[in-house]
Amino acid sequence: MKKISLNTQILFGVLAGITLGLAFSGLGEESAVAQTGLYIAGLVGALFIDLLKMVLIPLVFTSIAVGVANLRAHRQMHAVWKATLGFFVFSMVLAIALGLTAANLFRPGEGLQFAMFQDAMQGFDAKRMSLPEFFAHFLHSLFQNPFSALARGDILAVVVFALLLGIALVVGGERYSNIIVLLRELLELVLMLVDWIMRLAPLGIMALLLQLVATQDTALLATLIKFIAVVVGTTLLHGAVVLTLIVYLVTGMTPLKFWRGAREALVTAFATSSSSATLPITLRCAEQHLHVKRDIAGFVIPLGATLNMDGTALYEAAAALFVANLAGIELNLMQQMIVFLTAMLGAMGAPGIPSAGMVTMVMVLQSVGLPAEAVAILLPLDRLLDGFRTAVNVEGDMVGSLVVQKWVGSERVNR
Ligand code: ASP
Repeated sequence: MKKISLNTQILFGVLAGITLGLAFSGLGEESAVAQTGLYIAGLVGALFIDLLKMVLIPLVFTSIAVGVANLRAHRQMHAVWKATLGFFVFSMVLAIALGLTAANLFRPGEGLQFAMFQDAMQGFDAKRMSLPEFFAHFLHSLFQNPFSALARGDILAVVVFALLLGIALVVGGERYSNIIVLLRELLELVLMLVDWIMRLAPLGIMALLLQLVATQDTALLATLIKFIAVVVGTTLLHGAVVLTLIVYLVTGMTPLKFWRGAREALVTAFATSSSSATLPITLRCAEQHLHVKRDIAGFVIPLGATLNMDGTALYEAAAALFVANLAGIELNLMQQMIVFLTAMLGAMGAPGIPSAGMVTMVMVLQSVGLPAEAVAILLPLDRLLDGFRTAVNVEGDMVGSLVVQKWVGSERVNR
């Protein structure tokens, strides 16, 4: 019998997850069948995420250290740095501009009564952090004891330590070649584990989607439908048109080919709502399907998973305008520029975990004097919206690795 490809299995997983989710939500909360089904789905989904998280830290650590060591060996480090950070900022600027434009055009939240949400907001105590505090906190989180960062799974601190170690390994030269070989082999072993975990992806994705569909608060979705439509529409526009256009213009790769290569990561990102948990799969897609060299992908993708978040940036900007409309406050151009900047910082500072953007959203709201408690209105929607923005966050990382590879490659030819 012909083996069914992993992609087809994932597609079946998606369809089965959605269908069963709808069926369970139709049965109602009291039904024993639905309760048991949801319990099993919860367990399977969580185990799939656990497995991904299990390989995440060793993977990030080895892939960055090895990536940097190899880049320096090719004297490309400088170009890759510039291209990577430049691309991250560029794509997030586009995303925020899109989010702000759509929110200004469609004005979601207008006509709704702020008082309607008073109950939800009352019980919510937003953790406030001013912009300078947030900035200091962000800088502080970069440099941590590597052992505690590795143990806590604090990706940004692990990335920074691995970067520095990678540079030190090259500056040290021949003397440390054994360690480089050791790290390289460790990386290969971890990637082998990722391949094994991927075989469970169809099941894990089915379980996660089942839960997502079965536990949605449909009444609230209906009330905020306009806001949801604006956010989802613009996020998809950025993901499906802007990012793929960039890939096409820079590398000549057609959108279809890009999606075919990227889809495992996109579906997993949607199902898990976590760029970090998806990272092992993103890396695999970039290397194996999109043919980005390991040195480049191993550097751009882990860094992007915590810094480059187009979907989150777009969301934070659009949601701030939504809250302003809801509260009947008109934000002027200057205030919208502040939203622009804080949304960018908020997206960069948000770790790649579910609903992280909601936490940094508080800062965006505060920066222009909007009520931070309004986050409570957005939270019940977040499981759904987070799926879309995480998929676009992860897509942006893969696009970044393709663009950087092209850019650095051509620079080498020009030299
Ligand atoms: N869940 C998103 C991510 O992991 C972050 C966010 O909440 O926007 O990429």
